[in-house]
This record gives sequence, C-alpha cells and structure tokens, in this order.
Amino acid sequence: MENRSGPVWVIAEQIDCQILMVSLQLIGHARKLADKLDTSVEVVLLGDKMGEQTRQLFAAGADRVYLGNFLELAVYQPDVYTEMIVKLAKKRQPEIMLIGSTSMGRELAPLAAARLKTGLTAHCIDLVIGENNILEQIIPAYGGLISIVCPRRRPQMATVAKGVFPVPKLDENREGEIIPLDLPINISPCIRTLEIVREESKGVPLESASTVVAGGAGAGSQDGWRKITDLAKVLNAALGSTRPAVDEGWTELKTMIGQSGKMVSPELYIGVGLSGELQHMVGIVGAHVMVAINNDPKSPVLDQVGYGIVDDCQEFVPLLIEKIKEYKEKQITC
Ligand SMILES: Cc1cc2nc3c(=O)[nH]c(=O)nc-3n(C[C@H](O)[C@H](O)[C@H](O)COP(=O)(O)OP(=O)(O)OC[C@H]3O[C@@H](n4cnc5c(N)ncnc54)[C@H](O)[C@@H]3O)c2cc1C
Repeated sequence: MENRSGPVWVIAEQIDCQILMVSLQLIGHARKLADKLDTSVEVVLLGDKMGEQTRQLFAAGADRVYLGNFLELAVYQPDVYTEMIVKLAKKRQPEIMLIGSTSMGRELAPLAAARLKTGLTAHCIDLVIGENNILEQIIPAYGGLISIVCPRRRPQMATVAKGVFPVPKLDENREGEIIPLDLPINISPCIRTLEIVREESKGVPLESASTVVAGGAGAGSQDGWRKITDLAKVLNAALGSTRPAVDEGWTELKTMIGQSGKMVSPELYIGVGLSGELQHMVGIVGAHVMVAINNDPKSPVLDQVGYGIVDDCQEFVPLLIEKIKEYKEKQITC
C-alpha cells in the first residue's frame, strides 16, 4: 500500500516470549487510526525466538512487523531497544507511535521521544484522529478531559495502559510482511539488564479481580489503611488505591488504580475514603456495581456510584467487616 501519511506504529512488548495483551489492544486501535489516515499499521517486536508470535500481531491488525530476533534482545535492554527503534523510526517516518504504559513502555517511550525530538503524551485514555488528521491524545486533567496534540513534530507519540482499548477480534487468516532487523553494532550501553527476578504475586490480581476494595486519603493513617486491607481480605477482594495512599507509603504503587495506574473491571467496586477524582475514576469505568464510603455528603464520588454510604470509614469499615464475618459464619452453619 502506498501510504498517504506515514504508518501508524506500535512498539509491541513480550515477556518470556509472550506478547502482552496491551500490545494487541494497541494494534487493534492502531488499525482504526490507520484506516482513517489511509495508511498501514507497522509493529516493532524485539525479543528472541519470536518468529511464531508475529502471527498474533498480524491477526490483531498489523500489516508489517519489524522483527529483532536475537538472544541479546530476549529481555528489555533500554539503550539497545531505544537505538533500534529510533534508527528505524528515522528511516520509516511513522506518523504515530504507540507504546503500552508498562514498566518498559514508561521508560522506552520518553527515551525514544527525546532522541526523535518529538512530543509524548503519557497514560492516554483515548486516541482519535481530529482536524487536519492530527492525533488527539486524550487524558484526564483540570477536572475534565483534555486533548493534547503534537502538530509539528513526528511521530506523534502516546503511551496507553492495558485495558483502555479492547482486545481486537483476532483474524487468524490475516497475513503480513516480516522485515528482520539487525542488531546494532558499536553500541556501548550505559544500562544493561542482567537478570529479571519476578516478584511472587500475593492475593488476588487487581486487573482480573471480581471484587475490588480501593482506599484513598480518607484512610488517614497506616492504621486506618489496615482496616481497608482487612475489608479487602474478608471479601476476598483485590486491594486498590488512589495516588495519595501510595504517596503516604500505606500501600505499593502496583495497587494504584487510574490514569497512571491500573484499569480494573470488577463486578463489585468499593471505594473507601476517596473523592472520585477523574484520574482515579477512569480506571474503574468497567466496574459493574459501585459503592463509596465517604464522610462528606457532598463528596463528588457519591454522585458517581450506585450506592453511597455517608459515614466515617474508621468506624464504619470495622463494623462492616464484623457483619460480613457474621454473615459468612451463618452461611457455613446453614
Ligand atoms: C497526571 C496525573 C495523573 C494521576 N493519576 C492518578 C491515578 O492513576 N490514580 C489516582 O488515584 N490518582 C491519580 N492522580 C491524582 C488524582 O488527581 C487525585 O489527587 C487522587 O485520585 C485523589 O485521591 P483521594 O480521592 O484518595 O484523595 P482526596 O481527593 O483527598 O479525597 C479524600 C476523600 O476522603 C474523604 N474522607 C476523609 N476522611 C474520611 C473518613 N474518615 N471517612 C470517610 N471518608 C473520608 C474525603 O471526604 C474525601 O472525599 C493523578 C493526578 C495527575 C495530575
């Protein structure tokens, strides 16, 4: 296909040779953007023994895959990955470059953007083609949604978290072109990944949990936070949080839900002592039944949930835990 504009790029990510879900979601959305721009979707995939996995990328909507397939690329290497992507981008001139808001993407995207002297919007919650075929990169800010554009520099770069876009319907019959990449020579990396040690996951994973209990600044202290974690435990729920709870050191960053955290879609979401700021709420748009516990009857969160409880969480949560325990015991004895 002769491109009218440059291609839409997705930098795919693999861990242990498994393509990440967010990469497939980005390819699905890139397909829509590319169709609007009458151009192609190109994917860069770096790893080792990744030949077979390119089929998934084509099935998701890629037209062309640039494949770096070397033992040296098996795990993310910041300098080498950046060098390969930047060199190729200078040659192929992509119009748009999309990267997952993963640990790798959060580092790789700014490294590449700086080298390409272009703009980057982090943690977008939507991407649409606007006037003059410019990419509108939508993020929550200033109490609403704003659109960031990069009209003069290319590529227009954005990172997007897992779950923002749906997984596309995979078409196993789609085929495409694979272009092998060479390993860069004469590069002396400042940073080298030597080994990846995986943290053992404790409790229910947030993204796939059917019940999520999320706590916010209203927890007030580490002791208050413990009550929220106890509520999550008794409900066999995953523990989520807002940014202030992370900043206070009550919980780990990996529990943060929202624009710069995780996207969740539980059957039941219970928000405790949080105000319902958009940056948090964009992370729970997929939740079905939503409950909030807040001591301020005017808190905006109460207008956004199905069930609002106006009470002090320090007093209400321990009572709720007792009631749940009593209920569970009754269920066992019945
Ligand atoms: C670029 C950017 C990205 C961001 N990304 C994220 C993100 O991914 N996730 C995220 O969460 N935030 C994010 N934020 C921060 C976000 O804007 C809000 O500041 C944050 O979500 C507010 O957290 P909160 O609701 O816990 O705190 P607050 O807004 O301070 O609300 C605390 C609430 O607790 C209630 N409360 C107080 N005491 C009690 C009590 N004893 N009992 C019951 N209720 C009580 C109060 O009435 C209040 O409603 C981001 C901000 C920016 C600028």
